Amino acid sequence: MADQRPILIAGGGLGGLSAALALGRHGRCVRVLEQAAKFAPIGYGIQLGPNVFPMFERLGITDAVMAAATIPKNILMLDALSGEEVTHIPTGPKFRARFTHPYIIIHREDIHRVLIDACAAVPHIAMEGGAEVVGFEDTGAGVRVALTDGRELEGAALIGADGLRSAVRARLVVEGEPRPIGYVAHRTIRPMSDLPSDIPYRDEVVLWGGPGFHIVHYPLRHGTLFNIVAVFRTATFAERLDPAAYTAEVRNTYRDAQPVMKTLTDMMDLGRRWIIADRDPIRHWGRGRVVLLGDAAHPVLQSFAQGACMAIEDGVLLGEFVAQAGDDVASAFRRYNDERLLRTSRLVLESRQLWEFYHAEGIARDVRNDACARQTEDDVFRCLAWLYDGISLPAGVKA
Ligand SMILES: Cc1cc2nc3c(=O)[nH]c(=O)nc-3n(C[C@H](O)[C@H](O)[C@H](O)COP(=O)(O)OP(=O)(O)OC[C@H]3O[C@@H](n4cnc5c(N)ncnc54)[C@H](O)[C@@H]3O)c2cc1C
Repeated sequence: MADQRPILIAGGGLGGLSAALALGRHGRCVRVLEQAAKFAPIGYGIQLGPNVFPMFERLGITDAVMAAATIPKNILMLDALSGEEVTHIPTGPKFRARFTHPYIIIHREDIHRVLIDACAAVPHIAMEGGAEVVGFEDTGAGVRVALTDGRELEGAALIGADGLRSAVRARLVVEGEPRPIGYVAHRTIRPMSDLPSDIPYRDEVVLWGGPGFHIVHYPLRHGTLFNIVAVFRTATFAERLDPAAYTAEVRNTYRDAQPVMKTLTDMMDLGRRWIIADRDPIRHWGRGRVVLLGDAAHPVLQSFAQGACMAIEDGVLLGEFVAQAGDDVASAFRRYNDERLLRTSRLVLESRQLWEFYHAEGIARDVRNDACARQTEDDVFRCLAWLYDGISLPAGVKA
């Protein structure tokens, strides 16, 4: 391989770091540019499906990930009004027999740390905090990337892994802001020892679905922490309110739900909220020597808990294709875009349907509950197979 200029990556999230590690393990020079002063994720939990494990294996980080991960006893969806089970996904031996790999829950800080440490061990991967990308130029023979501090960096190519509000995407695609859907999320982590006794499920991933709201909770760090996410529809989604107003809104939203939902929301820090948004799929994620990945390319609602899994799949496949293409980075980027388009677009579109399913009201809720009651575990596995069976990676390419 002749070109020893670095591939520049805007964004040091899970997608950007996975791409960096995949490229670095194939001998490519990489420079990750992260806008935050420190490489640090928003510190909440994350669920990862079995499809991401072949990626971890290719990156050589499976053992480190598993050391920090928890395997939930079950994934349960409960009706938030009646308390009854709507459906479940068994995560024990039957799941492993069907999907080969486990379903895990992990603290974002822990998986981020695994990726940072693995990148730091590869000499030709550089990671730079306080480096916000604001523009770029594709010169045909390479790229020139502008940072907010006035620097201009030269590289062989640019990967925009800079998330939902990607600055790289803004310069590639003419469009507006991401599409807010009128819902917000509040997130909290509490020590497991703080949990009141009326919380019935501590070892499972639980989703309580109600009309226009849901709550997800699960344990982290081997059962020592408890992660809670409350998501609901609100007319004030775009307004920045004070914590007292958020609290009043949360109380009102969950007033008809099972009492345990009040217990859960009482435990939450309601000071910060996230606006839930996605985008319609687009066909082209780049041009020439510039390409997008992860949320920058295909932001998705979190219904399947797969946005990060897709970002990691993107990063690893991109690394493999660049390794196969040698110096013809632009053709590797096109191949990656073509290969990833339908899988990620399907996730964006089906996530919207699953979102409605979680929040069904009235007759739609009755129909949902009745249809799910008729499903077997094998039926549920069949519905998830397109996602959890994962993707094929090319046979390992030598650096
Ligand atoms: C409430 C919630 C729960 C979720 N739960 C799950 C789950 O359980 N499982 C799952 O798989 N997914 C989940 N997701 C989705 C997941 O968080 C995202 O899909 C994933 O983080 C995308 O990774 P990314 O690397 O593409 O982008 P990000 O994680 O957004 O990382 C982008 C990085 O780029 C940096 N950056 C931004 N702009 C610039 C710039 N101009 N220059 C340089 N750096 C920049 C940012 O600081 C950040 O570090 C959830 C999302 C939400 C909102």
